[in-house]
Amino acid sequence: MNKIIEVKDLTKHFKVASKLGTKVEYVKAVNGVSFDILEGQTLGLVGESGCGKSTTGRLILRLIKPTSGDLFLEGKNINQISDKELRSIRKDIQVVFQNPYSALDPKMTIADILSEPLSIHKVVHKYQYEKEVKRLIHLVGLSERDLRKFPHEFSGGQRQRIGIARAIATKPKFIICDEPVSALDVSVQSQILNLLTDLQSELKVSYLFIAHGLNVIRHMSKKVGVMYLGKIVEIGDVEDIYSNPQHPYTKILLSSAPIADPFNDRDRQFVKGEVPSPINTPSGCAYHPRCEQAMEICKIKTPFLKSKDREHKVACHLLDFNEMIRG
Ligand code: SF4
Repeated sequence: MNKIIEVKDLTKHFKVASKLGTKVEYVKAVNGVSFDILEGQTLGLVGESGCGKSTTGRLILRLIKPTSGDLFLEGKNINQISDKELRSIRKDIQVVFQNPYSALDPKMTIADILSEPLSIHKVVHKYQYEKEVKRLIHLVGLSERDLRKFPHEFSGGQRQRIGIARAIATKPKFIICDEPVSALDVSVQSQILNLLTDLQSELKVSYLFIAHGLNVIRHMSKKVGVMYLGKIVEIGDVEDIYSNPQHPYTKILLSSAPIADPFNDRDRQFVKGEVPSPINTPSGCAYHPRCEQAMEICKIKTPFLKSKDREHKVACHLLDFNEMIRG
């Protein structure tokens, strides 16, 4: 399968003034993130608020410029292209936003909302707009009558369907789904997730699926990346990571996830303490102030992602430590 997206050492540091305004500091939002996504595949990104998941998505969309690192779309480095070239590949990378209430222009009819990307990116000829817009609205499970309505006439779930129709209008190769169900009622979340899965099978589109919920990520993704303070600390096949997590942070995230079984009295564990400031990130392993297995080396030396086996990679000194004991 082709690599659709390849992210190499992507970094974004935002410049901010210190509290007293006397010096310049940097918020290290994304700190050397690397992954790739194959054609028709989904990579899930999971982690606490502020871990850099959404900033990674915005960097790939080129809504913000990276501080350093490379980003390839089907082998072409899109961090080093002109604005004109960037406009021409915008249609290949689309996004479904978290909040379907603010993502649609309240003054436009649904027909206009869906026609807009067709005309901007010249997806089809003008005389085919009507036919194409009807095709899109059917694909997301709404009816032609809905095309004459305005966004306020729809529920949250229906608006998210319209947001998805707009995202697929340009026939993209890759869609960033930025917490697409977290603002919706639980009752409609699964319908939207199933719609995204069905569209992926039909259109062979790849997704970067950003979410807080581990159950949602497992349902949607083939691979998962766990982020902590701007870095991926564990990445690999979703079933491998869920059944055999290696990083202490991943283990705690999995242990704290709610399960829909009142008779399962599993002891849930939670991450202790607050997320450290992304301005003054802890030395060595950034997770060490919260890690119950931290060793002296963890305060000094930064662990890098290392293969545990094949696709499964972990950034934790325990991996070396365990190998040393075994070997
Ligand atoms: Fe914990 Fe050390 Fe592993 Fe970091 S490197 S997760 S502090 S054991």
